Amino acid sequence: MDAVDLLVHDVDELLTMDEGEGQLGLRRGVSLAFRAGRLVWVGSPERAPESRERVDGRGCIGLPGLVDAHTHSLFAGSRAEEFQRRLGGVPYTTLLEQGGGILSTVRATRAASDEDLASTLSARLQHFLEQGVTHVEVKTGYALDLEHELRCLELLTSRRWPVRVSPTFLGAHTVPAEWRPDREGYVAFLLGEVLPRAARLAEFVDVYCDRGAFTLQDTRAILEAGLALGLKGRVHAEQVQHTGAAALAAELGCTSADHLERLDPEVVAALGASDTVAVLLPGAMLYLRDPPPPVAALREAGVPLAVATDFNPGSSPVRSLLGCATLSCLTMGLSVEEALLGITRNAGRALGRPELGWLGPGSAADLALFRPPPGEPSAHASLIQYLGGHRAEVVVRDGVRVV
Ligand SMILES: [Zn+2]
Repeated sequence: MDAVDLLVHDVDELLTMDEGEGQLGLRRGVSLAFRAGRLVWVGSPERAPESRERVDGRGCIGLPGLVDAHTHSLFAGSRAEEFQRRLGGVPYTTLLEQGGGILSTVRATRAASDEDLASTLSARLQHFLEQGVTHVEVKTGYALDLEHELRCLELLTSRRWPVRVSPTFLGAHTVPAEWRPDREGYVAFLLGEVLPRAARLAEFVDVYCDRGAFTLQDTRAILEAGLALGLKGRVHAEQVQHTGAAALAAELGCTSADHLERLDPEVVAALGASDTVAVLLPGAMLYLRDPPPPVAALREAGVPLAVATDFNPGSSPVRSLLGCATLSCLTMGLSVEEALLGITRNAGRALGRPELGWLGPGSAADLALFRPPPGEPSAHASLIQYLGGHRAEVVVRDGVRVV
């Protein structure tokens, strides 16, 4: 083989995630070679090709670059004071009536300069990268008017960020203050004015279908319009109340249905018969003290399970994807293997990106190496056993070492 650009050699334990459902593809003492932005070889160190750059993988656990399939990372403003008030017993509905909660994030995001929004987002995405995350879905949805929703999408798509970004249009996140008395008018405005322009920039259309937000009928109209414009669909489903949004996602061929805390087990079969991935969000479940989704029924029906941070300033100010994998085990009953698949290969499926979250011929050239916690052997279970705090030792994105 000709010389390669980058050789990561002698990784103690590598999980390739390429051996079928539920299999982690564990290999010990292996090397990986990258050339021209592609993974071109995985094998034993003695057979490694010559390389211009070499990285020592001894003492490390290797995973495909992690994938966070659900975040709201693009926002301005602080909700720290609100967090303290909520701990003190003030209900979220009271905060909303006082112009707080998501409405305060909308005001701050509209008022922020492009540079402030960009530098904050970049710092947040750099933090993800340093934890081994190489691909992050980022939603709009804190602007909620034509000018600022498009500005957010232009920002997401016009720069090179520390991680690759999948931009999602979430104009239907909540009804903004100026449209509060007229939800139907706002939906018509989204359909007529915003979505056709947003579709030129976004990869996904998403809707928050729930009590106090958008109805199932609104959701169908927005998703169908987005799909007709060439977007992929996803939906915030069954979080506060069972609405039927998950079954709608399956019917329309959405790549994912996210949340599912109140999913009626009766409709799990509809998800199981589709290619729609269930994206579980244990951070939001914890902060909102919600019940867990019906994981046993989802597993039984063969629904692929992904796990994401839902990073946002209100219901899930959680930036650790591996930490969420741990929480999915502790609070939802996932196994270590399911949790790891949930932040790699199944997260890639949830984004309609089958090349993400595994390592092999045809996969993305993304790799993350972690040292185990002090005193632990190089075994992947410790990355889930220990809650958060894992910084990647080495990160390769698109075949180039970036950490
Ligand atoms: Zn969300």
